[in-house]
Amino acid sequence: SGKFFVGGNWKCNGTRDSISKLVSDLNSATLESDVDVVVAPPFVYIDQVKNSLSDRIEIAAQNCWTGKGGAFTGEISVEQLKDLGCKWVVLGHSERRHIIGEDDKFIGKKAAYALSEGLGVIACIGELLEEREAGKTFDVCFQQLKAFADAVPSWDNVVIAYEPVWAIGTGKVATPEQAQEVHAAVRDWLNKNVSADVASKTRIIYGGSVNGGNCAELAKQEDIDGFLVGGASLKGPEFATIINSVT
Ligand code: 13P
Repeated sequence: SGKFFVGGNWKCNGTRDSISKLVSDLNSATLESDVDVVVAPPFVYIDQVKNSLSDRIEIAAQNCWTGKGGAFTGEISVEQLKDLGCKWVVLGHSERRHIIGEDDKFIGKKAAYALSEGLGVIACIGELLEEREAGKTFDVCFQQLKAFADAVPSWDNVVIAYEPVWAIGTGKVATPEQAQEVHAAVRDWLNKNVSADVASKTRIIYGGSVNGGNCAELAKQEDIDGFLVGGASLKGPEFATIINSVT
C-alpha cells in the first residue's frame, strides 16, 4: 500500500570524509524511480548532506525536541530541522527507547509537534527478544502504536517502522513470515482503531538487519511497504540494492 519507502538511518556514525564518500556513492547510484528514499544523517552533518546529496533523496533527522526551541540545552527544534531542509524525523527508535530511556508519552509529544509543523514522522515500534519469547509481541507493538495514535493529529505524513529490537544490529533478520505477521497485525490494528482508509494508505516498513541479500524476499511480502536500514545504509551500493528491491 502506497509507494515503497526506504530509509537509511546512519545513527551516530560517520565523519565529514566518510559522509562525503557515501553521498557521492548515492549520487552516482541508479535508483528505482517509484520509491521514496530518505536518509537520516547525524544532526551535525545534515547541512553537509543537504548541500551535496541529490534532491532525489530526502533528509530525515534522527530525533527532535517536543516543541519550539528556547532554553533546552542540547536539543534540536523542528523549526531548525526544517530550516536545514529536513522533511522527516525518526521518532521512537528502539535505541532512544531502551538506551536513552524515552517513553511513549514523550515520543508522542514529539510526533504531534513535528507533524503539526509539517515534518513527516517515521514512527518506530518493536518488541524486545524477551517480549517476543513471552508471546507479547502484539501487545507491545499495539501499545506503542496506540501512543502514536493518541498523539498524532493525522496519519497523512506518518510511516510506521516495525523494528524488532532483537533484529537490530544483530544480523538476525526477522524471517519474511515473522515480519509479515506483525505488519498485517499492525494494519489490522489501524483498521480497527483508526480507520480503514488509514490502514490501507499508511506505509509499514521493516527494519532490523536488512541487507542486500535478504531485502528481496522481505519486499515480496504483502504488508511490507519498505525498509528502515541501519548498517547497510552506510554502504552506498548496498543501500541502492535495497532501494531497488521493490517488487
Ligand atoms: P540495522 O539495519 O543495522 O540492524 O539497524 C536497523 C535500524 O535500527 C534502523 O533504524
